[in-house]
Amino acid sequence: MYWNAVPEMIAALIILVLLLNSRDVHAMPSMRDRMFRFTLYYSLFSFLLNILSIETVHFHQVVPRWAIIASNAAYFAFYPLITPVFIFYILLYAFERAPEEHRVRLRTTGTIILGSAALYLVIVLLNFSYGWLFSLDETNEYVRGPLNRLSLLLAMVHIVIGVLTVLRERSYLDKFFFKVLLWFPMLSLAIVIIQALYLEVVLTGSALVIAILSVYLNFQTKKISIDTLTEFPNRETFVSNLETIVRHKRKVTVVVASLDNFKSVNDTFGQKRGDLFLKEVANTLQQLCPKGQPYRYGGDELAIITDSTDRGQLVETIAERFEREWTVDGITTRLSTSLALLELPFRADPSTDPITLIDHALRTAKNRGPGQMVRCDTMVLHTIRRKNQLSERLLRAIPEESLSLYYQPIFSIDTGTMMMAEALLRMETKELGPITPSEFIPLAEELGIIGELGRWVLEQVCILLSDFRSRGKEMPIISINFSSQQFSNPKVVKDILETIERYRIPPGKIILELTESTFIGSSFQDALEVMHQLLGHGIHFNLDDFGSGYSNLSYVVNLPFRCIKLDKSLLWDVEEKNRMHHLIESIIKVVRQIDYQVIVEGVENASQVSFLRSIECDMIQGYYLCPPLPRDEFTRRHEAKLFSPLAKLVGNPEEPLD
Ligand code: C2E
Ligand code: CA
Ligand code: CA
Repeated sequence: MYWNAVPEMIAALIILVLLLNSRDVHAMPSMRDRMFRFTLYYSLFSFLLNILSIETVHFHQVVPRWAIIASNAAYFAFYPLITPVFIFYILLYAFERAPEEHRVRLRTTGTIILGSAALYLVIVLLNFSYGWLFSLDETNEYVRGPLNRLSLLLAMVHIVIGVLTVLRERSYLDKFFFKVLLWFPMLSLAIVIIQALYLEVVLTGSALVIAILSVYLNFQTKKISIDTLTEFPNRETFVSNLETIVRHKRKVTVVVASLDNFKSVNDTFGQKRGDLFLKEVANTLQQLCPKGQPYRYGGDELAIITDSTDRGQLVETIAERFEREWTVDGITTRLSTSLALLELPFRADPSTDPITLIDHALRTAKNRGPGQMVRCDTMVLHTIRRKNQLSERLLRAIPEESLSLYYQPIFSIDTGTMMMAEALLRMETKELGPITPSEFIPLAEELGIIGELGRWVLEQVCILLSDFRSRGKEMPIISINFSSQQFSNPKVVKDILETIERYRIPPGKIILELTESTFIGSSFQDALEVMHQLLGHGIHFNLDDFGSGYSNLSYVVNLPFRCIKLDKSLLWDVEEKNRMHHLIESIIKVVRQIDYQVIVEGVENASQVSFLRSIECDMIQGYYLCPPLPRDEFTRRHEAKLFSPLAKLVGNPEEPLD
C-alpha cells in the first residue's frame, strides 16, 4: 500500500503557521477563541499522526508490527474527530448569538455529534479483535477492513449535521458567516472529486486546512479591531465583548476612566504628548490589573474589563493612581479622571444595556466635578428610566399639548413699572406630573429638539402679543430664553423674522436671552454675526445668568447686549458672605459704565430689594415681586394694570397706583 503524504505535510505546516499567528491578542480569550486554538492544536496533532501511520505502513518491512498497529489505530481514533471538533467551534459561534429558546436544540445537536463520535470510538476499540477498519497480514502489509471507510462516512454525517444546523439557525447568524459556511459542502465535493482522480494522494488534511483557513481569515481575525494609538482593542470590540458577557451572564467588573479636561493637556503639551499620556494611562491600567483587558473606549476614555474577584478594589487602585503624577517624554503633570464602575451581571435589572449604564454613570461623575467615581447602581438605573420616560414624553410634548408658557414680570426698581416679562416654559404630563425646565431643557438639547421647542415658544409669545393688540391693549416686551444650540442653527434668523412678521409683531417687543455658553470657542464669530443680523431688524438681547460659573467680562464688553442679568446665585450669596455685597456692587458699576442695564433675578424678600436699590440696580425679577404666571393670569393682571407700577416697589402694598 502506498499513499502520498506530501499534501498532509503541507497541511500540517499551514496549521503551524496559523498557530503562530493566532496568538491571543486578548488577555481574556473568549470560549470561542480557546476552542479555535484547540481546533488548531488538535488538527496539527492529527495530521502528524496521519503522516506517522502512513510512513509506518510504507516501511512495514522494517517497522515492528505493534508500532504499525498502534499508529494506525491512533489514526483511526483521533483523525476522524477533527470534523466534530471543528463543528463544535462553529456551533459555539452560533451558540453565542442564539436566543435562549434556540440554545436547547443547539445543545441537542452537540449531544448527537458527541454520541455518534463515542459510538465510532467503540468500533475503533473493537477493531483490535475484529479488524473491521484495518488489519495486517502475515507480512505486516496493511489490509483494509469492511468498515474502512466508516470514518469518511462519519465525517460526512457530521458535516451534514453542521450545515443543517447553520441553515436552521440562520435567522440570527450574520449573513456573511452564513455564506462562508455554505462553501463547505461544495469544498468537500471538490475534494472528493480530486481524491477520486488521484487515489494514492491523501487529501483529507488539505480539505480541513482550507476549511480552517477560511474560518480563520473571516472570523478570528475580523473579530478584534485594535486602536492604533494604545494598541488595545477599540470601543467597537469593547461593546461587542460586553454584549457576549451579558448574554452569558459572566461575572466581570468594568471600569471606565474618562480623563477630565484632557483637551487642556493637548493644548498645553501638544497633541503628540497628549497621545503619549493616553498611552501611558492605558498601559498603567493593564499593569494595575494584569488579568484584565484594557480597551480604548473613546477619545480620552479608557476601559478595563476583568473577571478577577477583587471587584471594588480595582477602582480604588485606579483612583489612587490618578492622585499621583504622570510623566512622559520628560514632562510631568497631574491628570484627573472621572470613573464609572459597572459590575456584571447588573443585579438591579440584567436587561439594561451596559453601555447606557456606563455612559450615564460617567456623565453623572463629570457633573459632580473632576475626579469623581460613580458606581452603576439602582440610582443610576432610576435616572436612566426617568430620562427614557421623559424623552418619550418630550418628543410628543407639542402635539400632546403638555407644554405651556408662563410669564414672569421684570420691574424697574425706581418706578416699579413692569419693563418686560420673561417667558418660561412649563411641562406637565398626566404620568409624570410637572417637570421643571431645568430637567427637560437640557434633555431637549440632548435629543436635538430644542429648536422645535424654541419655535413653539416664539410662536406662543407672538400669539399672546397679537391678542393684546387685537383687544387694543398695549403689548408688553417679552424676553425669551434661547439656548446656545438654538442659536447655532443657520436658519435661526430666518425662522425668527418669519414668525414675528407672520403675526405682525414689532421686533422691539421681543428680547432674546442668551448665556455666555453661546459664545464659547469657535461659535463666537457665528453667534456675533447672528446677533448683528437680528439687531439690524430691531430685536435686542439680554445676557442671562451672568456670574454663574465662569464669567468673562472681556467677552461681554464687546457684545451688543441691552441688559445683563445677574445670576440669582450671586444675590443669594450676599446674605451668607458679606463680601459678595461689594462684588455685586462693583459688577453693577462696571456694567453700567459700559451702558448696559442690570437686571437682578431671584429677588425673594424686601431686604434684597432695598439692598439692590442702594446699589443702583436697574431692574429686578423674583418671587417676592411676582412669580411666573400662567398666560391668562398674566394677561388679566397686565390688562388690569396691576403691574404698573407694582405696589411693593412704590410703597402702597394695598392699592396699585395707576
Ligand atoms: P433662567 O433663564 O435663569 O430663568 C429664571 C429662573 O428663575 C426660572 O426658573 C424662574 O422661575 C426662576 N425664578 C425667578 N424668580 C425666582 C425667585 O425669586 N426665586 C427662585 N428660587 N427662582 C426664581 P424656571 O422657570 O424653572 O427655568 C429654569 C431655566 O430653564 C431657565 O433659567 C432657563 O435657562 C430655562 N428655560 C425656561 N424656559 C425656557 C425656554 O423657553 N427656552 C429655553 N431655551 N430655556 C428655558
Ligand atoms: Ca432667562
Ligand atoms: Ca437666569
